[in-house]
Amino acid sequence: EIARNLSVRVAPLGTRFVLVLADDNTESIRLDEVRRDFIANISHELKTPIGAIGVLADAIDQAAEDPAHVRRFADRMTTEADRLAALTAEIIDLSKLQANEALHEPQLLQVDEIVADAVDRNRVVADGKRVTLVTRAPSGLAVFGEAPLLTVAVHNLISNAIHYSPEGSRVGVGVRRTDGVVEISVTDQGVGIPKSDHDRVFERFYRVDDARSRNTGGTGLGLAIVKHTVQNHGGEVSVWSQPGNGSTFTIRLPEASGIDAIAADPAARP
Ligand code: ADP
Repeated sequence: EIARNLSVRVAPLGTRFVLVLADDNTESIRLDEVRRDFIANISHELKTPIGAIGVLADAIDQAAEDPAHVRRFADRMTTEADRLAALTAEIIDLSKLQANEALHEPQLLQVDEIVADAVDRNRVVADGKRVTLVTRAPSGLAVFGEAPLLTVAVHNLISNAIHYSPEGSRVGVGVRRTDGVVEISVTDQGVGIPKSDHDRVFERFYRVDDARSRNTGGTGLGLAIVKHTVQNHGGEVSVWSQPGNGSTFTIRLPEASGIDAIAADPAARP
């Protein structure tokens, strides 16, 4: 049994080579752990709004004679129900992204259009906080992928930028191209993120400041969705930030090539 699960690899070590006996079960055990953690996290996260809805239902029952109280509790119930709906929708999105690493119907996409769509969807929240959205996205840059997924990824970065920034500040969304890579970056003048948390913010349910994120309705899944979407598109996402000096999140995607254009539109074949 042990022998079946062991594989032999030759790994270079300086000028010598060493034989590595690796336990192939390790990876599947690790994946099982990740899955178990995810389910434990989900259960924990769902308990909070479900518990709150139960308590509020009791409170409404007891305050039946007082319409003002009933209205206040009912409003809070709606907020908790909305949070639950947002959370379950994001859990479903994330598990789909993790299960289907291949894209279904990739198309040739104009990056400026994706960015404009994502910015528009954040406009109302930005206006409510008097945050100015400044976009610099040249036309003519294309990537190969799925528009709804990439729009959500860029949307999540902009929505976070607004969320974690003070009233009246600026959020910049820029697009540029370097060496066959298209970069989409979102910069804010907000609270920033300590260096020790830079990698962890992309983990599911990780929040730098638990209370702040939860109070503002954060699910803790937004950046995990960005990471998986971008990875499924053959790209990567990174963060630069200093506490107090704002943050810049950058998505890097391979620029679409002529071959992608032909794949997207077989009629364009020479
Ligand atoms: P949430 O729903 O909590 O915002 P995310 O996955 O989108 O979840 O982000 C994870 C955590 O990373 C957040 O809780 C917050 O602490 C931190 N974070 C994300 N974006 C920013 C930002 N632009 N500025 C400061 N902190 C951020």
